[in-house]
Amino acid sequence: MPFSYYDRLSQRAQAVYRKSDATTSLPLPGAERLRPLVEELRVALVHDDRRAVEQAAGRLMSGLALHLSLPPVTVQVLAVRPSASWGELHGLYTRDDARPPRIQLWMRTARHRRVVAFRTFLRTLLHELGHHVDYELLRLADSLHTEGFFKRESSLFHQLVPEARAGGARGPGDPGAQDSEEPPGLK
Ligand SMILES: [Zn+2]
Repeated sequence: MPFSYYDRLSQRAQAVYRKSDATTSLPLPGAERLRPLVEELRVALVHDDRRAVEQAAGRLMSGLALHLSLPPVTVQVLAVRPSASWGELHGLYTRDDARPPRIQLWMRTARHRRVVAFRTFLRTLLHELGHHVDYELLRLADSLHTEGFFKRESSLFHQLVPEARAGGARGPGDPGAQDSEEPPGLK
């Protein structure tokens, strides 16, 4: 069953929605070769080093783009998440004709300015990559938050962090990237 906003979409957008919803996994060839880059990202977050996090996130993103045959995407890591009544912005994917697509990730929570939990940060990175995938790989006219979209995000996550499947344990404050974490109109 589609999310409630489906009914408010145009027929054209509903067709995009159904297409997005139909793809529920995303095979990541050679995922094991990317795991050292995931570990590098985890360590950089532990050390609370923005530059190191940005470099590690950039390397992981380049690896993911290569393994998924995607055109490159720039990664920028920023400090404290922007926030407003809709919540906190975890990440943002932007694309226009002027420059390569860009992913921005925030590494500190708005309220306590704490470093974001590793799994949440990785989920956000994969969430924003998912928007890139929608345009570049699935060739969708728009990138929508459908159930299929979130399943693809989870699919990538479990291929990169396979032990997450067995334990299923997520720490507090680690809900995974969700629809509500982005203000209306943003990806
Ligand atoms: Zn999004």
